[in-house]
Amino acid sequence: MIMLELKLSVHAEQCIALLKRMPKGHPVRPIVEKDLKIWLKGYYGELNTSYYVSFLPENEYYIFYGLRLKDKKDFQMDLLLISSRFALIIEVKNISGKLKFEKGSDLMIRELNNVDEGMDNPIQQVKRHHLQFTNWLKFHQIRGIPVESLVVISKTSTIIETTPDNQQIFQKIIYAESLLDKIKELEDKYQKPRMTKNTLTQLSDTLLKAHHIYIPDIFQKYELSQTDLITGVQCTNSNCKCYPMEYVSASWRCNKCKETSKTAHIQAVSDYFLLYSPTINRKQFADFLQVDSSIKARYLLLSLNLFSTGSKRGTKYFLPKNCIFSPHDENSMKKGGFFT
Ligand SMILES: [Zn+2]
Repeated sequence: MIMLELKLSVHAEQCIALLKRMPKGHPVRPIVEKDLKIWLKGYYGELNTSYYVSFLPENEYYIFYGLRLKDKKDFQMDLLLISSRFALIIEVKNISGKLKFEKGSDLMIRELNNVDEGMDNPIQQVKRHHLQFTNWLKFHQIRGIPVESLVVISKTSTIIETTPDNQQIFQKIIYAESLLDKIKELEDKYQKPRMTKNTLTQLSDTLLKAHHIYIPDIFQKYELSQTDLITGVQCTNSNCKCYPMEYVSASWRCNKCKETSKTAHIQAVSDYFLLYSPTINRKQFADFLQVDSSIKARYLLLSLNLFSTGSKRGTKYFLPKNCIFSPHDENSMKKGGFFT
């Protein structure tokens, strides 16, 4: 049963929002485009892996994509499977080329087009997650469930190479298409249930309650200032996409292509939450969406049904917990329209 669905990461959503609002020719654009390609590649690796995961029996496995928990530090697992017999943490990698592992090294060397590049060793990474998740379980007084961890390489075209004295890594690193065989191996290893169905459901609820998303400060990360970004509501016509739409007679209207929309502000508010702050007040809304009246701003904000605190002009509206307000779907990503 999928408890937490696979979604595009917050980082990728932020890059998309940035690219939509950064003028063409801005010097930081190529860096953001490069980062977005890396995040999307990771997402497609997870999507490929999710195909194999979908064959697992619904009532035996609770499945969490991108679960983020806190030990001493935050940690986010690409994929976590829990059953009454064991838990399995999976780190998914979608990396092209040849991956070379040296015994005991924190680095992995990726060879692509005869160029070597050092990368974090994913086996070490998943070991850290293993330790943090075990600590988390202890802290929540959940005992007796064995925890296993694994690195999954999403494509068989990636070559994994290591020295003869380091062959044990193939116990920890597999291709996505071998995932179901590996899970069968673990089922044979852990035949006895360690938890009742009730305890398993409770654990799943506790995990979901503890899950939180993290929205990095994008202005600091890319050394941007607020004046670098375009404000306003973007035209919803995919052939136009210009800024800003104007709010007239209860509708958003594009002065260039004459497109109208009742809902174009939703994406703009989502961009605001991703880029600026997880809260917004009436003035910030009016400034960012270029709405000329406080009454219209209030009306539009109320229509979003957001949780709020305070009163009158001081009212603060909140991004719903652990959500991207208006996430991008598969189709909009396939168009690849974010890149110049
Ligand atoms: Zn337009």
